[in-house]
Amino acid sequence: MEQFTNDVNDVILKALEQGITKIVVPGVDIESSQKAIDLAEKFPCVYAAVGVHPNEGLKWTDDTRKQLQALIAHPKVVAVGEIGLDYYWDDCPRETQKNVLESQLRIAEESRLPVIIHSRNALADVIEIIQQWKRPWETPQRLSGVMHAFEGDLVSAKTAIELGFLIGIGGPVTYKNATAKHELAEKLDLNVIVLETDAPYLTPIPFRGKRNLPEYVNLIAEKIAQIRNIQLKLISQATTNNANKLFAWES
Ligand SMILES: [Zn+2]
Repeated sequence: MEQFTNDVNDVILKALEQGITKIVVPGVDIESSQKAIDLAEKFPCVYAAVGVHPNEGLKWTDDTRKQLQALIAHPKVVAVGEIGLDYYWDDCPRETQKNVLESQLRIAEESRLPVIIHSRNALADVIEIIQQWKRPWETPQRLSGVMHAFEGDLVSAKTAIELGFLIGIGGPVTYKNATAKHELAEKLDLNVIVLETDAPYLTPIPFRGKRNLPEYVNLIAEKIAQIRNIQLKLISQATTNNANKLFAWES
């Protein structure tokens, strides 16, 4: 993202100093997906996801599928994403968003890669599409992906988990009035949670309002440990294991 143009190297080095060991950088269109791969080539701790975000759905052309497949061939691409539906910004007609999502789910299926799903004010439609998608290849050994910055409640989380998804928990869990997020952090099984920042967005307390940074994933882990009243180490171990299983990167 442009918010990191000037200091991305420092941002990554600071995250490493703070104990972060792996970072997934997703694309939102072809150009940013290529940039994510460039970053992954430069930093051993960085991995890339490639995809067309629903807000960028109007950029989808006849060539996009081939371009994505070429990017997926890179060894540091570990997922297809961010893909999904966004009815909050509504930057792209909903039917187009759905078509772009379905096309990319098929690409992920062909490449046997997990997906990083973005859903904003659109969870019912996202789940309906994923239920259709899952049927051809369902296997209990394989995770489908992650519901990033998960917007639903415990009941919809369980539906997503049954479809092979992990639940991404980020900065909003640190917000005082985010009761639905607190409930997820408290009650979800530790083996379905992954931590994320969504940097530069969704900055946790006490830095809310400023640019988010990968090192702040520690603040999210600390908040979950506090909510569950358990050691921080148990959160970091479990979520690291979950990410290792999801992305199948060398650990
Ligand atoms: Zn997103």
